[in-house]
Amino acid sequence: MYSLYKNNYNNFLHYIHKVYQIKKLFLYIFFLFFATSSHISASWVIINDDGTTDIYIQKETKPYKIKEDKKKPTINITKNLKSKSSKKVIYLTFDDGPLLGSNNIITVLQEENVEATMFMVGKHIQKSKSRKKIFQRALNEPLILVANHTYSHANGRYKHFYSNSERVLLDIQHMDDILFENDPKYLMAYCRLAGRNVFRLPSIKRDDYGIKNESEAYNALWDAGYHIYGWDYQWSYNPKNGEIYKSPYELAQVIERIHKKGKTRTKGKFILLMHDFSFRDKFDGKEILRTLIQELKYLGWKFKTLTSY
Ligand SMILES: [Zn+2]
Repeated sequence: MYSLYKNNYNNFLHYIHKVYQIKKLFLYIFFLFFATSSHISASWVIINDDGTTDIYIQKETKPYKIKEDKKKPTINITKNLKSKSSKKVIYLTFDDGPLLGSNNIITVLQEENVEATMFMVGKHIQKSKSRKKIFQRALNEPLILVANHTYSHANGRYKHFYSNSERVLLDIQHMDDILFENDPKYLMAYCRLAGRNVFRLPSIKRDDYGIKNESEAYNALWDAGYHIYGWDYQWSYNPKNGEIYKSPYELAQVIERIHKKGKTRTKGKFILLMHDFSFRDKFDGKEILRTLIQELKYLGWKFKTLTSY
């Protein structure tokens, strides 16, 4: 009797174990499917010094509805004629703020008294009170042009994002509304797309490649009245943590070489792309940026915001 009971009990345990293993297998297959199908292009997680993270992955922002009651001014870009007299003008551009590192950038720009453009991301502005404060600080600084770098930064899913022109347009408009509430001066005039080196200006048209039919979205933005700025060269960084690869001196030499070969989009004008998170304290951000600016000053470069491009 006892052995019969024990036998049944063992069979029962064996059955439970089997069910558990099958369940595990299903979960594994589901995970594999989800990981490979749901996300294609670059996604990344930046862990900040304060322990918070900025994640560009899989999460969709809600479709944005345009506020109808807003009367937006039409674009009126006044070219700064003074810049024509200078032969070497550099446009420092900082992307993805407000993030940790943004305050260091603003401080150094003020100390060195040079102009620059900060392309900010709407959802980063709305992330916390301290991020909003950075946004306001940049807006209040006459040396800085705060510009549109989308609301969602495509959530890191570039292929998905650029496959739908309307989605791209609404996302850019969403960020425009945040800018409009604070500074209606340059609406629609200064935009940079997330992760794409694209130009749509009266004088320059450049597409980025790698995503099927992506130029449809760029053209839709242009037709709607947006002016889009890419870059001539990026100060590249380690994608795992944002740390910059080249020293400021090496970078200054690269800039000189590209300029001398006449390989910028506009002769005598150089658009440099950098990212806010590269200038955090842990990378000695202030010192690195200050060194670059001083070196460029020494080489005879003048600094402007994109309003004079
Ligand atoms: Zn970006």
